[in-house]
Amino acid sequence: MSATENETLLRLVHVSKHFGDLKAVDDVSLDIEAGSVTCIVGPSGSGKSTLLRTVNMMESLDGGAIFLRGQMIGHELRRGHRVPVKAAVARRQTLNFGMVFQHFNLFPNYTALENVAAGPMLVRRTNKKTAHGAARRYLEQVGLGDRADHYPSELSGGQQQRVAIARALAMEPQILLFDEPTSALDPELVNEVLAVMRGLADAGSTMLVVTHEMRFAEEVADEIVMMDAGRVVERGAPAQIIHTPSTPRARKFFASVG
Ligand code: ADP
Ligand code: MG
Repeated sequence: MSATENETLLRLVHVSKHFGDLKAVDDVSLDIEAGSVTCIVGPSGSGKSTLLRTVNMMESLDGGAIFLRGQMIGHELRRGHRVPVKAAVARRQTLNFGMVFQHFNLFPNYTALENVAAGPMLVRRTNKKTAHGAARRYLEQVGLGDRADHYPSELSGGQQQRVAIARALAMEPQILLFDEPTSALDPELVNEVLAVMRGLADAGSTMLVVTHEMRFAEEVADEIVMMDAGRVVERGAPAQIIHTPSTPRARKFFASVG
């Protein structure tokens, strides 16, 4: 056990995000422990992506607050909260979440190596030699050491997504966020990506994963959180949630995906 085991790394407290009248995320509270894997499941439109985007600070909050290691990194923007908001903004600039999307969004005119090195070079001003050396190691970690000089168009979808994972790792994030990382892949390419994610989980990465891959969720997740209509409808240990859900909504959902 590492020293950080059972430490709450990320805490969402009554987080809400609205689009007009639509409550895309509606009063969600969540604790993510360091080194844990949390899978978020639920039907399309239930707010899974929006929740990840609030964590990633790609969306402002309409309610609640988000804490990283006890420090507030985001909260509802309201009059009278000027100073804390400023502090939160300053804090969030020092941290980062590695995000992996359904569509890999690699730079087409960069090689795999250049794609992975780009973030540290542009954002962190890491020099080219150091960034390329690190990028090579991350590509090896995702099993693509021999593809460093290939362009995205010369790689399969599964390989491209593994490059995207290496790119996220290169920013040395405290939490890895995945938004349906295998949903755009041909079925025969799904497992190579899940295998890389499994390896990251085994290595102790803290991961928040939106997925429809129930077998992966059951085998790898410490906790599954099911969302519907912006709310958490059920959460708990994978086997219990998947096989003996307690709410009718969850029973219906797991019957349809399992
Ligand atoms: P999921 O990822 O679970 O499919 P989303 O988080 O993408 O769900 O969306 C939740 C709800 O919020 C949906 O009804 C969606 O149409 C809506 N939504 C998401 N993003 C926006 C946006 N930028 N503007 C307006 N509505 C949005
Ligand atoms: Mg989504």
